[in-house]
Amino acid sequence: MAGLPVQIGQQYEAEIIGISHDGEGVGRVNGFTLFVAGALPGERALVRVGHLKKQYGYAALVEVLEVSPDRVKPDCGIYEECGGCQLQHLSYEAQLRVKRQQVVDNLQRIGKLQVRSSSSDEEGIVVHPTLGMTDPWRYRNKAQVPFGEEQGGLIGGFYAQGSHRIINMDECLIQHESNDEVVARVKEIGARLGIRAYNEERNDGLLRHVVVKVGFRTGEIMVVLVTNGVEIPRVAEWVAGIRAALPGVKSICHNINVKQTNVIFGDETRVLWGSEVIYDYIGDVKFAISARSFYQVNPVQTEVLYGKALEYAALTGGETVVDAYCGIGTISLFLAQKAGQVYGVEIVEEAIADARKNAELNGMTNVHFEAGPAEVVLPEWTRQGVRPDVIVVDPPRKGCDPALLATILELQPRRVVYVSCSASTLARDLRVLVDGGYGVAEVTPVDMFPHTVHVECVALLVRNETDAEKPY
Ligand code: SAH
Repeated sequence: MAGLPVQIGQQYEAEIIGISHDGEGVGRVNGFTLFVAGALPGERALVRVGHLKKQYGYAALVEVLEVSPDRVKPDCGIYEECGGCQLQHLSYEAQLRVKRQQVVDNLQRIGKLQVRSSSSDEEGIVVHPTLGMTDPWRYRNKAQVPFGEEQGGLIGGFYAQGSHRIINMDECLIQHESNDEVVARVKEIGARLGIRAYNEERNDGLLRHVVVKVGFRTGEIMVVLVTNGVEIPRVAEWVAGIRAALPGVKSICHNINVKQTNVIFGDETRVLWGSEVIYDYIGDVKFAISARSFYQVNPVQTEVLYGKALEYAALTGGETVVDAYCGIGTISLFLAQKAGQVYGVEIVEEAIADARKNAELNGMTNVHFEAGPAEVVLPEWTRQGVRPDVIVVDPPRKGCDPALLATILELQPRRVVYVSCSASTLARDLRVLVDGGYGVAEVTPVDMFPHTVHVECVALLVRNETDAEKPY
């Protein structure tokens, strides 16, 4: 492009000054910004420009000329092909620092909020160090493995970065070991029985995905075979093979997906053998997990995250709490242990059905769940006289609906606990709540997905007024 200080195909020396939310190094060449995958802050690197826009461009890393002290050799042999992790070349300590900094940057730039820079500062929000894992590997409880064929043989693994070409994989270092083991055995048995894999382009073949879930605390395992078609040939032999090879398996399910789609699951799930659900615990709360129900993928850090939310809610036993965007009721039930009454709302009806079952499973009667948009249901509850002392929100990446924030400001709960998976929408929403009379007391980032760029955090907001001014 004419007029730009760099040209496509040319090599330049770049100073890497930061890291983007996608994990790319943010490089500078003659004042121009280039995103360089694989480069780290503090490095100087030789890069080749691949793609240009008016304000910035993308460049490939040719050679690192000055190496960051935080650079480490990725433990995983397929790190670069896979793309499932983005930060394995950065030491874990540095990953935690980078994640905290991203939260700080968003609060400042998008929220225009003041962040306390050192412990001696009086003013501003305290952003704590990211709570990381002692052992940041093998943390995932769910594997969703696409299957294909290579030279007539059954393979299962991952899609090569940016494509739908399946690469065979024997282990994934962020998966629980037993998930790797299950996938390997299922692959062997499938190959032995002559099962054909689904072919996306031709829309033929049978086995699309194998989904494996494991309860970290209970050791219970569920295997789901997702197929393009209703019948599985030699299904009894397959079930017998899985049971013989994998004694931890408590449930073998079959999900039928005949659509030409990227969505993994189809609408119909059948139990081939065993139980319809497996169980797991977060803290003392027990959860039933079915083939399609949503469940947090890092159970160890989920406990840390919810523990922080519970601490911020500061419950003494009698409070009324609302959990908006409650999913299958995980946070609601966690809070119900310490609250008077909890109201959970979630837009997906099946999730609410699961939430009710989970409440029953734990014998909890002080929770009420309702399906619907939080921004509609919360005002309804208000009309019915519900007056929450604490509101917890855990919205999807797009953040809270403005109408929900408006209702929170009308209701004026003493505390708002905001659990967020997107620091930018968190910052936007905190600004609205701060303008409406809340102070952001503190924010704690929690590392739910080590080695990936995802950042999760919990923020505590406290109403500025004293109790005497409470409007009801
Ligand atoms: N708190 C849960 C799930 C959080 S994920 C947990 O920790 O497991 C966010 C949830 O918000 C999803 O379950 C999604 O279905 C739900 N959701 C999205 N938009 C919504 C809306 N407008 N009202 C209520 N729930 C919504």
